[in-house]
Amino acid sequence: MTTAPEPHGVTEPHAHSHEHDEAAAASSRPKLAVWKFASCDGCQLSLLNCEDELLSIAEAVHIAYFPEATRAVVEGPYELSLVEGSITTPDDVRRIHEIRAQSGVLVTIGACATAGGIQALRNWADVDEYRSVVYAHPEYLKTLDTSTPIASHVDVDYELRGCPVDKKQLIEVLAAFLNGRKPRIATYSVCVECKLKGNVCVPVATGQPCLGPVTQAGCGALCPSYGRGCYGCFGPQDSANTESLTRQLVELGMPSDDIVRVYRTFNAGAPAFAAASDAVEVGATVRSTVDRAPEQGGVP
Ligand code: SF4
Ligand code: SF4
Repeated sequence: MTTAPEPHGVTEPHAHSHEHDEAAAASSRPKLAVWKFASCDGCQLSLLNCEDELLSIAEAVHIAYFPEATRAVVEGPYELSLVEGSITTPDDVRRIHEIRAQSGVLVTIGACATAGGIQALRNWADVDEYRSVVYAHPEYLKTLDTSTPIASHVDVDYELRGCPVDKKQLIEVLAAFLNGRKPRIATYSVCVECKLKGNVCVPVATGQPCLGPVTQAGCGALCPSYGRGCYGCFGPQDSANTESLTRQLVELGMPSDDIVRVYRTFNAGAPAFAAASDAVEVGATVRSTVDRAPEQGGVP
């Protein structure tokens, strides 16, 4: 015998009260918004990759604005905004000010948002030339000459490094926000993580360059653990001695162009790496001038 379905008149009040309960619970939780600027979305995906913790996160905060993951948009203001990506267009500049105005705590996530990202390579290039080569109708394009971190435009409460961010660090930042404390994020170098893992030092053992000594921890020394030098995804650590590392890279036989490139990868716009790459470039120019014959503009 089958049970007859309940008439709509019976079920609807239950549905309404359930929706009402859910809405009430959601409104009591702090609203989280996730915003995107020029980026690859990898840092937002790191949040979605927190599979084991995602339900707890959704229970602790009301995910109010997150176009990558939800269909519905809940109006601000938002207690917590996570911002991914760098500022590369005049519209970005306008939008980040709007976002700041409607955000309680604003946290930037990833190398794009904290250092201008890979796209900060444009800061050393001729953007008009790129525009004319890449686009059939560059006149329709509005872009800035530089890619800059979010903190160059508005006040930022906390910066989380990495390309992409590390999901454990991301959860630590969310937990700190929910508990009203400062996030416990290491500011020492990748070398410390590398030693804690018991790795053999890559440059010492194999002569490969490694940016670990000047790079902030956070990845668990991922690349050195697989016998590769660190690529500097997490940007400069708080007291990065790039001068010393540059000397070591030269001693390892790395050409100047390559040294400039290793500093100008994921975090090209981070001041310490930008300065280190500029110093090598200026040095390279001087060296090449010395090497040139006097009639070619060299030093006699
Ligand atoms: S920091 Fe890296 S992973 Fe994150 S959005 Fe930028 S390019 Fe993508
Ligand atoms: S492999 Fe790199 S990160 Fe690890 S200890 Fe050596 S220099 Fe530091």
